[in-house]
Amino acid sequence: MLNPNEIPTQELFFPLLKEKGIRLSIKRLDQVHDLASGNKFFKLKYNLEEAKRQHKSLLLTFGGAFSNHIYALAAASQRLGFESIGVIRGERTLPLNPTLAFAEYTGMHLHYLNRSEYRRKNEEEILQNLKEKFGDFYLIPEGGTNELAIKGTKEILTDADLEFSHIATSIGTGGTFGGLAGSIGKDQHLLGFSALKGDFIFKEMEDLIKKYKILVSGKYQIINGYHFGGYGKTKPELIAFIRQFYNQFQIPLDQVYTGKLMFGIFDLIERDFFPEDSHILAIHTGGLQGIAGFNQKYGTELPL
Ligand SMILES: *Cc1c(COP(=O)(O)O)cnc(C)c1O
Repeated sequence: MLNPNEIPTQELFFPLLKEKGIRLSIKRLDQVHDLASGNKFFKLKYNLEEAKRQHKSLLLTFGGAFSNHIYALAAASQRLGFESIGVIRGERTLPLNPTLAFAEYTGMHLHYLNRSEYRRKNEEEILQNLKEKFGDFYLIPEGGTNELAIKGTKEILTDADLEFSHIATSIGTGGTFGGLAGSIGKDQHLLGFSALKGDFIFKEMEDLIKKYKILVSGKYQIINGYHFGGYGKTKPELIAFIRQFYNQFQIPLDQVYTGKLMFGIFDLIERDFFPEDSHILAIHTGGLQGIAGFNQKYGTELPL
């Protein structure tokens, strides 16, 4: 299996915290593995074990052209000797962006679906077509969220993390949020910052907690005011924040998830959302591989 590195938790110090009487630490899941990093390490862990148990030699999953999940699965497949297929939304464009170039380099086969087909990726007909084309495979859904993924993300927090009053994470498909919800202590407060635009996320997370029968001991809350226009969208204010955060703490953040999360936490601290004596643990879910492609596409110079 994939060997995890030790995951450091770093406390951040800056005047605003002191002024508000609040502490803030960051758990660096981005360092859990050199290639299959971030929350995707935890989401893949038990799925890879299960694929092996079922004697499946081929893994198939779905993702966008800059997907952290595609990147992590490609890396993990190569390490563990699986064949892999990445079904990518949209057309093949050359040169490949850094994410897809890496995936091909590891040996992942990239198969493209146009946007309307891609939208139907969970339908039996599309899956059947893929089976006819590629043979039997172990299917991991887009973003990697399923029962075994949540079993994995329940391991992000350890007993040492019970000291924190608040746990904060970014939300995409919610597999990470779900695992955290299932593992927080009864006095802890989980905050999920949606990386997507829209109120649907409230119901979607309720549904996810029901679907996977997650027992929540503490409290949770979804925050959706920090999506910066929607999934993958950015604003100059966000880019400036990420650069400044790096200059101050030497911690890189990505523009899709962790940048928006930290921006939101800072803003809420400023607005006195957190009571005095709170100690917040922000989960750095990784995603740093995607920065190179973003910089290339938009001519930005985000640190990585
Ligand atoms: C995939 C991803 C997320 C979202 O995780 P979900 O489990 O889908 O909610 C958050 N942060 C980063 C860096 C990611 O790569």
